[in-house]
Order: sequence, then C-alpha cells, then structure tokens
Amino acid sequence: FQFKQSDILTLKQLGEGNSGTVSKALHVPTNKLMAKKQIIFERNIKVQNQILRELKILTEVRHHSIIEFYGAMFIDSAANGGGADTGSTESESTASTAKDDTFTAKDQTKGSSKDDTQLANVHPTEVSGVNSNGVVILMEYMDCGSFDHILKKLGPLKEIYLSKITVNVLEGLNYLYTSHKILHRDIKPSNVLLNSRGEVKLADFGVSRELNNNSIADTFVGTSTYMSPERIQGDVYSIKGDVWSVGLMLIELATGDFPFGKQDTPNGILDLLQRIVNEEPPKLPRDKYSREMCNFVEMCLRKQTDRPTPDELLKMKRTLITKYEQDDSLHLLRHLAKKLKKPKA
Ligand code: ATP
Ligand code: MG
Repeated sequence: FQFKQSDILTLKQLGEGNSGTVSKALHVPTNKLMAKKQIIFERNIKVQNQILRELKILTEVRHHSIIEFYGAMFIDSAANGGGADTGSTESESTASTAKDDTFTAKDQTKGSSKDDTQLANVHPTEVSGVNSNGVVILMEYMDCGSFDHILKKLGPLKEIYLSKITVNVLEGLNYLYTSHKILHRDIKPSNVLLNSRGEVKLADFGVSRELNNNSIADTFVGTSTYMSPERIQGDVYSIKGDVWSVGLMLIELATGDFPFGKQDTPNGILDLLQRIVNEEPPKLPRDKYSREMCNFVEMCLRKQTDRPTPDELLKMKRTLITKYEQDDSLHLLRHLAKKLKKPKA
C-alpha cells in the first residue's frame, strides 16, 4: 500500500484508550478495511524520532498472532484537537501533500539516523512532516474486536476457547521476543483481538506503549493494571512480566472479573499496586476449573524467578495448552466468533 491521507475514509470509532483513538477505516483505492489508530502527542522532535524507530520495528514484524501493520502517517492535528477523531480535524498536514513529502532524511533534524529513512522504503509507508504532533497508524482490522468487549458480550469464556487464545498469545509473545527482542509490555484483554476467521492476534506493542510510558500518570489511568509485582517494584522488565499479564488476563476471561477488582480513584490504584506486590497471587478456584487450567494460571503468576517463559509454557506437557491439543484452533475460535455475530436474544 502507498498511503495518502485522502485515500483513507474514516468509518465508525471502535474505541478510545490512554494513547489514542481507534476507528474502522476504508482504504478507498483497494477497498480494504483497516483499523486506524490516531495518537496525539506533544510537539517534540525527540518523541517523533522515537516513534519513527518504533514504527520501523513494526514494519519488520510478521506473524500469524500479531496484528499486521500497513503503514503510518505523521499528522499535524489542529490545535486543541485533543485526540478527537472526527476524520476531519487533521489539518491539511504535511502528510497529505503527496509524494514529495514522503519521509526523507532531510526532513529530520540531527537526531535522525539513516535507519529511519528506510521506513518509507522498506515497507510501503508514507511518513512525513517535521515536528508533527500526531501519528496515524493503519493496521489490520479485526472484525470481532478485542477480548474486553467479547467478555462483556459473551460473559466468561470456556476453557477450550481459553486454551486456544492462550496458545496464540504465547506464540505471538515468543515470536516478538525471540525474533525481534521485543517485550509486549501491555498484554490485556483490550490488546488481544479476534476475527471471524478464528484468528487471535496481539496489538499495541511499540509505539503506543512508548507514548503511554512517557507519562507516569497515563500508566496509572484506566481500570486495571496487568503489571507484574517485579515491574511495580521497579525491577528490569523481562519477558516474564508479559507472562504474568497473561495469567491475570486468563483469570479475567475465565471468571468475568479482573482478579484484583476495580479501582477508580487514585487511592484505589495505589492500593491495588500494593496488593499486587504484597498479596499471594490470585488463583482460579479448583472446584470450578480443570486442574490443567488452574495449574497453568498458577505457573503464570509465580514469583518472577520461578515463572516460566512463553517458550517454556508452549513446550510444557500436561498444561491447559496440551489438554486441548487435538482440537482445531481456527475451527473452535470461528465458532466463538459466530456467537458474537448473533444478535442478543
Ligand atoms: P490502552 O490505551 O490502555 O491500550 P485500549 O487498548 O482499550 O487501552 P486502544 O488501543 O486505543 O485502547 O484501542 C481502543 C479499542 O479499539 C480497543 O479496545 C479495541 O476494541 C479496538 N481496536 C483496537 N485495535 C483494533 C483493531 N486492529 N481492529 C479492531 N478493533 C481494534
Ligand atoms: Mg490497545
């Protein structure tokens, strides 16, 4: 794809998070549906260069459990745009003034490396605009949405589905880590998505994470935190932090509730962080879930040193994953997707 802003027709808004707004969009020349994430940031060349580096990584990532990245455009959002995505608030930015503006090294000030310039060439991506204050990321559209929405719609999910979702998530994490040395850092139900082909994919590592982490405040906004105890305590973040998040997410998807409850006030958040660090990790009740499922979750929520890596979890016998090994993943998850399409009785 070669993107021009004028080729993108913004359809309905899909959701709003800490870092930006996501809309369904149509790439008119190819008639392809996409998800368009618009992130507004401080007008700052350092931030912009950081984003460029992150975008470059996205162009190199390719895996069946990772949302495909189509391209990105820097935009110059109208003053006081505040991230609103009406499809028209973007000013006639440098990004939309076609070919001449395609990102080149001279567009950047000192900080730019030669690598950055490849972004426009390595992948059909149009990036331009000096000193922008926003970026639009175009990615694969997942028509069944994210698992936070799915949970709200369908209620707690059966183990057989959870096992398939888990395998996909772990394979995605393992790929990011072993092939690109990337940690996801933001595994949670809203960043795991489903489509009607029965595919489960991870979104939101990279760019949006960097922006989120720029502000401590942002890190603590939101309803839940999937951060591991060691991360809260300031240890170096490792791949095992992602595994902790997988464990918490599994409890939430299996029971319907975030294991540490909701916390809406600033005090609530501090209290929550303290509990994650000090309390025994949450578990699934053994009388309601299979031994394999309970054991699996307990392994994910062990202390960092005893916690397995995604690779080890994928290889482990007698776990949730191997229990349903015979069942076809795509077939099962297509079945789950179909339930979402049915109108509510
Ligand atoms: P946070 O900002 O803390 O990550 P979030 O994940 O809910 O929270 P966004 O990443 O902005 O926020 O996403 C908002 C919503 O848009 C998601 O909850 C999801 O339902 C939807 N969404 C995101 N990416 C896609 C996609 N590729 N296809 C379909 N829907 C998507
Ligand atoms: Mg997200």
